[in-house]
Amino acid sequence: MSNQALQDLIAKTQATLDTIAAQYAPAVFASSLAAEDMVLTDLILRGKLQDKIGIFTLETGRLHKETLGMLDRIRETYDYDVTPYRPQPEAIEAYVKNHGLNAFYDSVELRKECCRIRKMEPLNRALAGKASWITGQRRAQSVTRAELHVQERDESHGAHGMEKFNPLADWSEQDVWDYIRANDVPYNPLHDQGYPSIGCEPCTRAIQPGEDIRAGRWWWENPDSKECGLHVVDGKLVRIKAHAPA
Ligand code: SF4
Repeated sequence: MSNQALQDLIAKTQATLDTIAAQYAPAVFASSLAAEDMVLTDLILRGKLQDKIGIFTLETGRLHKETLGMLDRIRETYDYDVTPYRPQPEAIEAYVKNHGLNAFYDSVELRKECCRIRKMEPLNRALAGKASWITGQRRAQSVTRAELHVQERDESHGAHGMEKFNPLADWSEQDVWDYIRANDVPYNPLHDQGYPSIGCEPCTRAIQPGEDIRAGRWWWENPDSKECGLHVVDGKLVRIKAHAPA
C-alpha cells in the first residue's frame, strides 16, 4: 500500500472513532494488547477520545508476562491505565477442582467453558451499560472473520443489543505494522518471536513462516472453531456456543 493509501486508511479509521465518540458513547474498546489493538489504542489516546471510549482488557489469569507488560508500556507511553477485567475467582476454583487447570486441552467443550469463565463472563461485565464496543479485528485474520464489517449490530450484548465496531476491518497486517513503525507505537515483544496472534499462554504458540496467522491459537482444534462466542459467523454477529475473544 502506498503511503497516501495508508494515510487515507488512517483518516477513515480516525473518522470512525470520532463518530463512535460523538454518537455511540459511552463506548469501550476491548484490547487484547496485540499489534492491532495498539494501533487503535494509539489512535484513541492521541485523539484524546478516552473520555468517550474507555479501554479495557480481559485479564484471564493465563496471559504471557510479555502481554501483561504491555499494561505498563501503555501507562509509560500514554499516561493511561487500561482497565483489567478478571474472571470470578469462585468460577475458576470450581473449574479447576472439577476438571483440572489445563482441562481445555481435553475437549472442545471444556475449552469453551474455560473461555466462557475467563473471557465471556468478564466481557459481559465490561460491556454492561455501554452503548457500543470496539474490537481490533481485521477481516483478513481468519475464515471466521471473512464477513467482518466496520460497523455491525451485536444483538448478544446489552439489554437490547448494541453497536459493535471493527475500525480495522479493512486493514492488512502490513498496514498495521507500517502504522506501528511510523508512529513508534509500543507493541508486544512476542510478535518478534513468531506470534502473530496472541492469547492466553497455554493456548498460543509461535507459527512457522507461511502458516495461517491464527494457526498458533487453539492449534489442536479445527480452524473453523477458533473463535470464542463473541464474534461473526456467516456475516452476523452472534453468540457462538462453540467459541471465546481473541
Ligand atoms: S484461551 Fe485457553 S486458557 Fe484462555 S480462556 Fe480460552 S481455553 Fe482458557
